Amino acid sequence: MRTINDFNFKNKKALIRVDFNVPLDADLKVTDNNRIVAAKPTILKVLEDGGSAVLMSHLGRPKGQATPELSLKHIVKEVTQVIGVDVKFVESCVGPEAEQAVADLKSGEVLLLENLRFHSEEEAGDEEFAKQLSQLGDIYVNDAFGTAHRAHASTTIVAKFFPENKCFGFLLAKEIDAIEKVMRTGEKPITAILGGAKVSSKITIIENILDKVDHLIIGGGMTYTFVKAQGGKIGDSISEDDKMELALEILSEAKKKGVTVHIPVDVLAADDFDKNANTQVVASNEIPDGWQGLDAGPKTLENFKQVILDSKTILWNGPVGVFEMEAFAKGTIAVGNFIAEATKNGAFSLVGGGDSVAAVKQFGFEDKVSYVSTGGGAMLESLEGKDLPGIAAILA
Ligand code: AMP
Repeated sequence: MRTINDFNFKNKKALIRVDFNVPLDADLKVTDNNRIVAAKPTILKVLEDGGSAVLMSHLGRPKGQATPELSLKHIVKEVTQVIGVDVKFVESCVGPEAEQAVADLKSGEVLLLENLRFHSEEEAGDEEFAKQLSQLGDIYVNDAFGTAHRAHASTTIVAKFFPENKCFGFLLAKEIDAIEKVMRTGEKPITAILGGAKVSSKITIIENILDKVDHLIIGGGMTYTFVKAQGGKIGDSISEDDKMELALEILSEAKKKGVTVHIPVDVLAADDFDKNANTQVVASNEIPDGWQGLDAGPKTLENFKQVILDSKTILWNGPVGVFEMEAFAKGTIAVGNFIAEATKNGAFSLVGGGDSVAAVKQFGFEDKVSYVSTGGGAMLESLEGKDLPGIAAILA
């Protein structure tokens, strides 16, 4: 795997695909600079080598049209502040103006190009557009994990114009490394904790990881499709009846593969999907009509705790309850605590894909797990076992 450490950027211009798709408020100020901070090590390495950095990114969904409120000029100040170097900006991302701005760039300087998605050719993966982008640097660096599952011009196609001079930035390399640790090289026992609302959105992940893990913990709304498929009474809990057969197939497949599946034995049920609902702990297969399971119960959490603390490699995707409501967040917080403890004892833990990342940040576990992925869709596709085009293009 060729990373940015394999290159010396002295007197070179690095064309870096970053993910600066950051949220802006009504005054067009950056409200969360995490993605800029995440790209900082890569940019600094280029500058410290004595090179210059040409940064390209998308922002929002301008659908191929120049859209003033989605101009990357609004984030120049923030990038300058985070990187600690005055960032120059050019109001185009291809063509003579951009080429001139790159030609004028000196070692130690940083240039940010205008929003790539002002051109429909970006998302179309247009080769001519990618070729124009490739004029803007000597070495192509992809550090945008969040878009690595897209075969766009700047994330994938452009790489072919740098047959020798292409590499992963630090952030993308870290993401790849974390996925490898769970999917291929992880120390056993390996445990995957899958929660979230629906079986249907996690099915490909479950199928793929059954070959990799020793334990599969099922939590969240998915629980009830499994419980009902096995003949349990789930009251008014969320369930996908058309996925019950699939749930049974997963359980029998897991058995064949020697994977132990852990499904909640008790749940915190509520008489309404509401933060002020009445609640009671009940067996997960004896939920009364008019009640719905919204969080894992105490016996379940005790069981999850044992499994998690015995694991050496842990993957967490999806909350085990409706964590957005305080009354039903306890299970998700407990799971976060167990993972934190296992990590402290030497396990490797990866949190990735969607709402579990939000939960980890909200409850302050970010620094207590080994790695929190920055890419929702890209992480989900990796866990599904798909090759990401942006990664394949660098490896090619
Ligand atoms: P996902 O995006 O698939 O990871 O789903 C996350 C969502 O699942 C969160 O918004 C949770 O509130 C929701 N969820 C978790 N447990 C349950 C449950 N028992 N009933 C309904 N929704 C749930």
